[in-house]
Amino acid sequence: MPTKIVLLGSTGSIGTQTLQVVEALQDRFHVVGLAAGRNLGLLAQQASHFRPRLLGADVDGDTLAAHLDLRALAAERASLEEMATMPEADLVVVATTGKAGLAPSLAALRAGKVLCLANKEVLVMAGSLVQALASQHGAAVRPIDSEHSALWQCLVGETGPSSVGPADNLVGLGEAHAAIGRLVLTASGGAFRDLSHEQLHTATAADALRHPTWSMGQRVTIDSATLINKGLEVIEAHWLFGVPFNAIDVVIHRESVVHSLVEFVDGSVKAQLGVPDMRLPIQYALTYPRRVPGGLPRLDLSRLSRLTFSQVDHDRFPALRLAIEAGQRGGTYPAVLAAGDETAVELYLANRIGFPDIARLIDRTLQAHHATARPDLETILAADVWARRHCLEAAGV
Ligand code: MG
Repeated sequence: MPTKIVLLGSTGSIGTQTLQVVEALQDRFHVVGLAAGRNLGLLAQQASHFRPRLLGADVDGDTLAAHLDLRALAAERASLEEMATMPEADLVVVATTGKAGLAPSLAALRAGKVLCLANKEVLVMAGSLVQALASQHGAAVRPIDSEHSALWQCLVGETGPSSVGPADNLVGLGEAHAAIGRLVLTASGGAFRDLSHEQLHTATAADALRHPTWSMGQRVTIDSATLINKGLEVIEAHWLFGVPFNAIDVVIHRESVVHSLVEFVDGSVKAQLGVPDMRLPIQYALTYPRRVPGGLPRLDLSRLSRLTFSQVDHDRFPALRLAIEAGQRGGTYPAVLAAGDETAVELYLANRIGFPDIARLIDRTLQAHHATARPDLETILAADVWARRHCLEAAGV
């Protein structure tokens, strides 16, 4: 029986690559739900090829009907939450961006689905809610981000030194949790890694979008350039693996071949390597615990002259520390961080603020925030709205 997949965010970068993986492994997977934002042309192509039972998009019914003939496709329109909980679905891939993935992810966990998570905000904004629901409903979370996939792959099969019970973690580490000494996330350093303080002041979004290694969406490209992306990933790692913030490090690794490392309690270090191609972590999340040949490109060691690692320059890239501090403070701070960042990045993409202003605006928004310690979803979403408004006001544009 093929695994039945719901894919939310099917027309974005991760969404389209997920469908490439499904296509390459078509005997194993069957797509039962597809949801897009507003790229209806591409959604129509995907729908006629994969024939899901449920379809969704972020448009009104008439607009959708103008692009997709639901009757001819034998499909019904559904909301993200309806798709995330559809009875026949085994796996829900959340590849949406921003807070759109939040409610459907929580709904998928409540319905006991396996949640394959590419949407950073879900764990950043609502890590404690996700954890509570996952343990309550025995649901599992599989990371799709390359760094978290690497950490996960390093940990699979490990056993800790003692009978220390598995601490709260989302990927289901079991005894491997007690084997972790520290987690080391690698960062490419982003498009502006070689720029001086002065050069950063005049660096434009167009410059950043010529990113060195990974092919990514606009927001994550800018988030990589500020390094806040890595800070969001530290917060995600904290929830996924149940590791305290002071045991999670970040190193700059320009070649993007080592996708992250785990240092174990005995001092041994394991790393996961591969070509920088998101289809590899996507495929692992879909086929776990199995590895299958999917026709993906191979790492050619003879063409790697060297692998380099260096420390983060927090003076030039202060957003990383802002993110880690927001994660440590917890409550609604991480939601405010993510919302402030998204707002500031939009202003930067529109050439309305400079590059250093992104971190400055996030910092000002965090400082003005009165946090709630144990927020529910409503409080998290209210903090998000507040942060966007405050960030815009602080920008004065
Ligand atoms: Mg990443």
